[in-house]
Amino acid sequence: MTSQIRLDVPLADLTTMRVGGLARDLVEVHTAEELIEAVSTADNEGIPLLVLAGGSNVVIADEGFAGRVVLVRSRGVEPDVTDCYGAWVTVAAGETWTDFVELAVQEEWVGVEALAGIPGSVGATPVQNVGAYGQEVASTIARVEAYDRQTRRREVIPVADCGFSYRTSRFKGSDRYVILSVAFQFKRGDLSEAITYPELARTLGVEIGARVPMTRLRDAVLELRASKGMVLSEADRDTWSAGSFFLNPIVSTDFALPVDAPTWATGDGVKVSAAWLIERAGFGRGFSLAGSHAAVSGKHTLAITNRGGATTREVLDLARAIKTGVHAAFGITLQSEPTFVGCEI
Ligand SMILES: Cc1cc2nc3c(=O)[nH]c(=O)nc-3n(C[C@H](O)[C@H](O)[C@H](O)COP(=O)(O)OP(=O)(O)OC[C@H]3O[C@@H](n4cnc5c(N)ncnc54)[C@H](O)[C@@H]3O)c2cc1C
Repeated sequence: MTSQIRLDVPLADLTTMRVGGLARDLVEVHTAEELIEAVSTADNEGIPLLVLAGGSNVVIADEGFAGRVVLVRSRGVEPDVTDCYGAWVTVAAGETWTDFVELAVQEEWVGVEALAGIPGSVGATPVQNVGAYGQEVASTIARVEAYDRQTRRREVIPVADCGFSYRTSRFKGSDRYVILSVAFQFKRGDLSEAITYPELARTLGVEIGARVPMTRLRDAVLELRASKGMVLSEADRDTWSAGSFFLNPIVSTDFALPVDAPTWATGDGVKVSAAWLIERAGFGRGFSLAGSHAAVSGKHTLAITNRGGATTREVLDLARAIKTGVHAAFGITLQSEPTFVGCEI
């Protein structure tokens, strides 16, 4: 049942960065039908809408959100497993991603094991084509079911029409679609996909291209992520973040980069490590502006963290300083990864 509308809800409590002011009101939904009802009611009444789930990829203004927040808490995992086409698994948007990855590893559904430890909901994973350690959800998503706020209808969007590329999709930066569920198609087996990420291969002591038991790969990923402050922990303020604050920029192959800059070849050019650029531009681990409660993570320069009591303004000031510093040092304009609500850098 749709829960009652709550007024003046502190959004900082609902985000992993722990910043953001009050929502004018908020309604929590537990099924796809309730989600559609809450969204269409807000649309009918002309109320500004923010769909929020795990709050791990948003930066919300100190002024809060003068509209309705719909908090997605729908549940349900429906597997259809055959010898013929592997495991076809339909998952409600509000399911917790880390729980789902754990289930996939236990059930021997191959293809998301390297995405262990990423916070947030299943329904948000298509939004920025969540990825890490050489995997991304675009490789296993078969289709997405969404509510289209323009046509006011439910729509099934096959993977080919999702517009997936590096940390983006047709859903990112647009509030047209509300994702109701995600259907994945997995191969079955107890070995991981072939490892493509050098750091992960090194940690596991195997060659690029090797496959290892999925449980072993998941454990290695979780260990690596924890060492970088990328697994949520109440006790560890290096994890009070929105994950990577900036994308790895892609530059043309003839761009004059320092020879020691870590890069990866991509179809579109050369992808450069944003963490390296940030560090070399003078924003090392733990960097903070004078008097600020926001700081670069003590474990990884790509995350901006709340050290306790930070405001959104402090987070944005630090982000702007980093962006300006990297541009001055290398002539590269960093793009941010999270969604900004009522604010921008
Ligand atoms: C410590 C940490 C580590 C992270 N590591 C990674 C990583 O390795 N790789 C990676 O890709 N990301 C990473 N992230 C970012 C984040 O976890 C993912 O983007 C995640 O998918 C966001 O899910 P969420 O439910 O928290 O989304 P929210 O933060 O609640 O929302 C994010 C955006 O998605 C929209 N949205 C949410 N649910 C829906 C829905 N059902 N329908 C339509 N729109 C929706 C929101 O409106 C908002 O625009 C990390 C974040 C943190 C804090």
